[in-house]
Amino acid sequence: MSEELGQPWGMCAAFGCPLLGSLGSEGRWYCFCHVNKPSTFNDAITRELREKQMHLVDSTIEIRRHHSSFHGEERAYRTIQQRLMVAGRKDLLMTAGERQNGGVRAWLMRLERALIDSVSEIGVQKQIPTTVQTADVPNAQPATDFFPPVAERAQQAIEEANP
Ligand SMILES: [Zn+2]
Repeated sequence: MSEELGQPWGMCAAFGCPLLGSLGSEGRWYCFCHVNKPSTFNDAITRELREKQMHLVDSTIEIRRHHSSFHGEERAYRTIQQRLMVAGRKDLLMTAGERQNGGVRAWLMRLERALIDSVSEIGVQKQIPTTVQTADVPNAQPATDFFPPVAERAQQAIEEANP
């Protein structure tokens, strides 16, 4: 499948990508960072992964290689922990909550989510989110800041409705 592009079997079809190809798109297998992104951004995503996120890339691949279980493999687990700490990502160590709830699999999901977030700005047009915010966004600015007259009218309407 992806061998014609010079990618080893099992790897993401985007050239040079260090992640496994696990998601199918148009007959090829892509990693969770490259899938559904326009191919013109493939190299920029690969560069981000290779230059800035290898501590995460290696960690997720090792966890998958261990089938999300470190029973009897404490050393492999500690290696990942140390790598994350050296990279300054103490926040991505396995938490006590994850240990009790979901285990290594939950931890892996968080690490992969961090990788997706690291490339989320690449190749995406800004759009208005359609989902409800579930967490505080630092420095978030309400849309009404940009449309003061609309905000005023809305406020007026609210006050008139609730005298
Ligand atoms: Zn990829």
